[in-house]
Order: sequence, then structure tokens, then C-alpha cells
Amino acid sequence: MISFYSPIFLSKVLKSYLFDINRLGSLSDEELRRYQDKHLRKMVKFAYTVPLYYDKYKKVGIHPEDIKGIKDIKKLPMVSKYDFKKYYPDGIISSKIDKNKLIEVSTSGTTGKSLSMYVDMFDIVVGLFGYIRSLNEHGINWRKDKLSIIADFAPHTVESGYIHRGLQPRLGSNLFFKNIQWLDTNDPAEKVIEEINKFKPDFIGGYTGMLGHIALLKDKGFGKDISPKVIASTGAPLSKALEELIEKTFNAPVFESYGSTESGPIAFQCKNGKYHVMSDFVYLEYLKNGEPVKPGEAGKLIVTKLFGIGTPIIRYDAINDIVAPLYEKCDCGLAGGLIAKIYGRDDISLYTQDGRMLLPSSFGEIASKILYELKTNKLKDARVIQHTLTKIEIQVVIDEKLRNVGPSVEEIFSVLKQGLQEKLGSQVEILTKEVKKIDKQKPRIISKVDRSKLKISGYT
Ligand SMILES: [Zn+2]
Repeated sequence: MISFYSPIFLSKVLKSYLFDINRLGSLSDEELRRYQDKHLRKMVKFAYTVPLYYDKYKKVGIHPEDIKGIKDIKKLPMVSKYDFKKYYPDGIISSKIDKNKLIEVSTSGTTGKSLSMYVDMFDIVVGLFGYIRSLNEHGINWRKDKLSIIADFAPHTVESGYIHRGLQPRLGSNLFFKNIQWLDTNDPAEKVIEEINKFKPDFIGGYTGMLGHIALLKDKGFGKDISPKVIASTGAPLSKALEELIEKTFNAPVFESYGSTESGPIAFQCKNGKYHVMSDFVYLEYLKNGEPVKPGEAGKLIVTKLFGIGTPIIRYDAINDIVAPLYEKCDCGLAGGLIAKIYGRDDISLYTQDGRMLLPSSFGEIASKILYELKTNKLKDARVIQHTLTKIEIQVVIDEKLRNVGPSVEEIFSVLKQGLQEKLGSQVEILTKEVKKIDKQKPRIISKVDRSKLKISGYT
């Protein structure tokens, strides 16, 4: 087994450290394209040793030799969640790689369906480098500054895979990372803010929802010693209002970091607030009805990962995010593609009567109003069920400890109702219901509307 201490691995890491992190700053667009071409060829060749891809490519008569670079990528068939499930476990890894060297991770169950795949130690390192690159861009030195990272350490997640099953057993938790505090986003916000307050970090990274909660606690006087230089939000689109709330309470800028379990890092916001694609790690396509979107349009994100010896991700169409590309240049000077807007997952959406899809970025906007308008943490959980195009049910769980503190439950309902009504139209009937508990494994947004009968006219 190749260990983190083996000279081969360490030299690979060191080489990667020197070149990977600054690659987007040092390559021209043309050099970057050549880099992508080379790595795509390599990945397709590697994928040909993986049964799933071998079968797919054989079936359509494609051979790795036919793929000279990105310009040929459309010749490759796309792969879906169904393919991964069908070939799991041994059919999604290369016959040339010892499975014991790989680490299994699963996608989160936000839609109730999780998917397993394999990553290797190099994936994990590149994943961290992607994060470090975004930190560098915002003036944070990961070796000197103190970082608090609030990750999802539920047993199956990519974070547990990377940190608990990947790095820590090999490195020990204190050797490389003594300036990093790892916190669990599944813990109560009160506990998380207390830990951060003791650590006094220069940087806080966490999930959008958790950052909103701790911002509100800080606003109420908790976490007096917390004053980070910068904050990174991940996991869900950050609404403008929530961004302002976090920036104001912590007196620090917030940037978004975008990635997925399947692909690793995808994009991050630079100092100008523009989303830069990690174009040396991933190649992105944006499709609408199978065709590339026109400028200004949003489409389904198709991801190709350009590194790794775990499960290859080539033209993967199951991230299910709706994203709009931006065909401009940013004057920060980084090479690679830009993203105009990340709308979020299209499999957790509602539909309007005129055929628009209401995506997570909209729900984020509505839910964050509870935080920044009502300034309350008492909304513990919520679920939206669309019974028909004209009937919606909102279920909420109220934190019993806070029931009689601050704004009433009725006020919360009213904000949620009004937010949804604005997005869906006044003809839609919205019911509100308080429930004791919402199953964590079940999706938070459920639409019973038959999607196959709808013609999608746009995204909201
Ligand atoms: Zn930029």
C-alpha cells in the first residue's frame, strides 16, 4: 500500500503543491486548454480500464484514441447515477488499481438517494489544494493562519472520507494540521460557535445554513472573540441578504466555494466576487435539452474530472445542479472559465404554473429571511411539499427551547408563506403545518407534480 510517507507519494504531493495551487494564475488560457486536452486523454485512457466506461464506450464504438482533447469530448457518452449504481462496487474502479488503496465516499442524501464511489489519497490532496487555492486568493496562508472548518462529519460523507479515513490515519491529526480546527456541522450551532470562540480563527469555512445560524448567535452576543479575516460558504447557494448578514456580524468578507463529492472542487469566488472554475481540475459543460446553452442561459451541469485514480468522472450528468456560465474575463488574471450563477439542484425544485423551476437558490433566499428579518434561530427544520401546481404545504419544526423567545411561530409562517407566494404567484394555495420531526434521510423539497408533463420555460 502506498503510504502518505512513501517517497513516491511525498514527491508527488510536493510537486503538486508547487504547481497545482498557482496553476490558474500562471497559465495562459491557451496553455490551460492544452493542459486540459492532455489530462482528458489520460483520463479517458484510464477510464477504459474501468468496466462501466469500457462497456459504455464499446457500445457506441468509441476508443480512447478517438479522443484527442476537449474538442472531442462530445463524442463520449454521458454517465448517470444509474450507471454508477449498476456497476458498483467493482465495476466503477480500474482493474489496474488495488481497491484497498481507495477510500469509499458517498454523496449526501439531501434527495434521499445517496451514491457511492471511490477516491484515492491524491484526490484528497488535490481536493485540499483546491480549497487552499481559494484561501490564497483571499489572503489566507493555510500554514500560518488559523482555520476553523465546519465540515459534515456524518460517517459516509466525503469530508469523513477525506479527513477521518484519509488524512488523519496517515498523518495524525496534529502533525500537518495543528492550525486547523475541524468542527462538525451536525453539532448544535451554540456548540460550534463556542468552539470557534476558543480557537479565534483567521478564517471560517462552513455550510451556508450553519454560517447563518452562527452569524445570528454572534449578533446576539455569542462568540465575542471571533473576528476572522475572511469566511467561505459552501453547500448551498448564498443569498445576497444572508451574505450581508454574515459579513456585517463578523465584519469580514464572505466568498463562496463550490464543489461536489463526485468531482472535488469545482469553482470559487475571487476577490472581485466572480466565480472561477477550477479549470485544471474539472471541465464543465452546461446543457439544455442536450445542447450547450446560449450565452446568458442556465443549463444542467455536466462534469468531467481531470485527475485521480479512483472512480473516473467523465461527462457525469448527475450532479443535478443548474448553473449559468459567464463568457467574460475577470481582471484578477486567473485563467479558466467563469460562472455567472449557481442556482442549485434541479432535483429539489418546485414548479410554477407558467413552467418555471424554483431552485434551491430561491429557497435559500426565502429561508434566510427568517434569519435576517426575524433574527431568530427557532426554525429548526423545514420541508416543502408541492401537492399540485396550485397547492403547497410547508412543514416546520420549531426549537422547543426557543418557542417562547422572539417572534411568534405565526410570524415565521407568514414570512415563509409570503416568500413562496411571491415566487409562485398569488393563485397558489399555501398551507403551513408544525410537525415534531422531519426525517433527516428524506428530501426537504418534494414535488408530486409530474415533471414529464411540464415544459420547463426557465429557472427562478
Ligand atoms: Zn477573478
